[in-house]
Amino acid sequence: MPNKTEMGNRIIPYQMLLNSMSTTHELIDKILPDSGLPSLRIGLEEVLSVVRKDIEKAREGLPIVGYHFAFQPEYLKCFDCVPICIEGVSFFLGALLLSGVETYYDLIGNWGHPFHTCSAQKGVMGMSLEDLFKFDAIITPTAPCDSTCASYPFFKLQKKYPLIIADMPFLHEEKSYKYYGEQLKLSLEELGKVIGQEPDFEKMRNALELENDVTKLKMELFDLIKAVPSPIENMFNPISAAATIFISGTSENLSFYQRMLELAKNRYKNKEHHGGEERVRSIWPYMLTFFDISLCEWLDRELGMSILLDIFNYNLSDLIDTKSDSDTLFYGMAKKAMGWPMVKQSSEFYYPFLDDCIRMAKDFSADCFIYTQSIACKQFGAVPQLLREALHDEVGIPMLIIDFDVGDARMTSLKAFKDKITMFVQTLM
Ligand code: SF4
Repeated sequence: MPNKTEMGNRIIPYQMLLNSMSTTHELIDKILPDSGLPSLRIGLEEVLSVVRKDIEKAREGLPIVGYHFAFQPEYLKCFDCVPICIEGVSFFLGALLLSGVETYYDLIGNWGHPFHTCSAQKGVMGMSLEDLFKFDAIITPTAPCDSTCASYPFFKLQKKYPLIIADMPFLHEEKSYKYYGEQLKLSLEELGKVIGQEPDFEKMRNALELENDVTKLKMELFDLIKAVPSPIENMFNPISAAATIFISGTSENLSFYQRMLELAKNRYKNKEHHGGEERVRSIWPYMLTFFDISLCEWLDRELGMSILLDIFNYNLSDLIDTKSDSDTLFYGMAKKAMGWPMVKQSSEFYYPFLDDCIRMAKDFSADCFIYTQSIACKQFGAVPQLLREALHDEVGIPMLIIDFDVGDARMTSLKAFKDKITMFVQTLM
């Protein structure tokens, strides 16, 4: 019978994540005044609480279930398991460790996986090669991109982890939501067979209700962000992404948004901006630099540039009807899943994306867009120029495009980002 340490060793990178988050939180707590980086302080407290509990559950022997961030963690609440977000671990270790997770990108690259696939998956793929993870099962939708679909078979073919796939259709319409709802139910039942548990859909309903409450808070918060100056600091964006993909369906996620909303309301009343003065309002319709999130703070303080929204936080789904029958429940879950950050933008035609961007530019009084084109997101390669023209024609604002690797600083460095944005901002003044 394996002991607690051996059980805990099935998720060594999660322990690394816990340590790096604890150290960062301690630094913030000891060095910065209360007003310094509150979203990072609050976010770390809430995510740390969940990660600590998950590590304890792993030590007790509960099954380890890896999931793609496009599979909503609250749906896994029907099991007693340790849910590990594969992309979240790669990116947030990349953000918090001084040397990032480049070692693991190189390990999987040397093994033969193409360098131009997504660093969100390459980190955990490299860690799995080193046996730092031992998953009992992995679950993923066939979304949001080719890179995902081409990378996940590694876990099945090379590592022999049971891989459960929910087939997500391309079209976003009624019959697709019905179909994907059935896929969600089937895939959860299949996962249950693999880990030897019956899915408890009543327990999952409670998590969905909690997330309905989170959605209401998010709507209030995003209304406040429309104000000038924005009452939320840029660091909120990567931290809210972490909350969405790691702790959805937990009371900690609700607490995170309650605390952030309180903070935003106070700043809104006092017309306060975190960086002192807001000079430029930007929207990043794709991703931030997860290899170094300090860029967020630098933009606030050095350039007075607010990041109003990024890809992980401008999709607000309808509330899920949890009171009706099971078909209605899974229909709502499917609709939410297909409107999930990055899934919505990447898994349908680009017209809705352009429409959303134009609407957001107007609603949030944006001065510019900054479009980060990641080397791995090939499904989006043709969109930036179309968006740039649409924003110019419909709203009269410019867009800067920066090519990069979202998790690997070796492609476009932080310095290159700062130089490009500084020059771009000069053209706006
Ligand atoms: S859409 Fe891009 S960032 Fe998202 S998982 Fe796919 S390749 Fe990675």
